[in-house]
Amino acid sequence: MEAVSINENSWYFSGAVGRAFLFKGEKAALLVDSTNGPGDLRGEIRKLIGDFPVILVNTHADSDHIGCNDQFETALMHPGEFAYYAAKRKEGYAVPAPLFEGDTIDLGKRTFEPILVPGHTGGSIVLLNRRERFLVGGDTVLQRVFIFGPQRNLRALIASLKKLQEQYLDAFDFIFTAHQDLRLDKSFIAKELAGAEALLAGRLTPEDAGGIPLEPPEFRPASRYTLGESGFFYYTEPDH
Ligand SMILES: [Zn+2]
Repeated sequence: MEAVSINENSWYFSGAVGRAFLFKGEKAALLVDSTNGPGDLRGEIRKLIGDFPVILVNTHADSDHIGCNDQFETALMHPGEFAYYAAKRKEGYAVPAPLFEGDTIDLGKRTFEPILVPGHTGGSIVLLNRRERFLVGGDTVLQRVFIFGPQRNLRALIASLKKLQEQYLDAFDFIFTAHQDLRLDKSFIAKELAGAEALLAGRLTPEDAGGIPLEPPEFRPASRYTLGESGFFYYTEPDH
């Protein structure tokens, strides 16, 4: 797992499925998610910044975001995610610690604010850097959002997208995402919101999921849905 440079003090790492981000400030560095590996994420970080302190934040507790949590001692996340993390946590994984909306992660001349955005999971967060004008979007602002099965709630996702749109849109210009395109313009949030509302209203047609395994035994069958650039994996037969 190799670091890819974004700018002088920012990098991302690509795991088998998703990305983690590293942002270095003057006194600490922030690692957003730990990917699902494989590899020595901690070692790669050390190559970049030596033994500089690293604060790990998980945007949510899906396996592709916490897979290298065994390489860290503490993982900050919203308490709304604690129960899901407890269910997904493997031996040696970092101990969860609470991160609330209203908190500020101060790295020294570089700060990030968590914003609670339930939907993809109950305690999902995005992280806002006001000075550099970007969001780290986790799996909430994405071109293809998983929104079926345990933890997911489409109505909550819609409310969270409205919250970003109405309360925060002036504070950032683009989103770093965990999957698909690395960066999305903030105008994508309106497109995803329109897609999610159309999906909830039953206006989108189920499409073939394109080989993505959507039928583990505990799930109802799911399909892919798209509206313009926004896409979702959601129940084939939704209960409207
Ligand atoms: Zn993910």
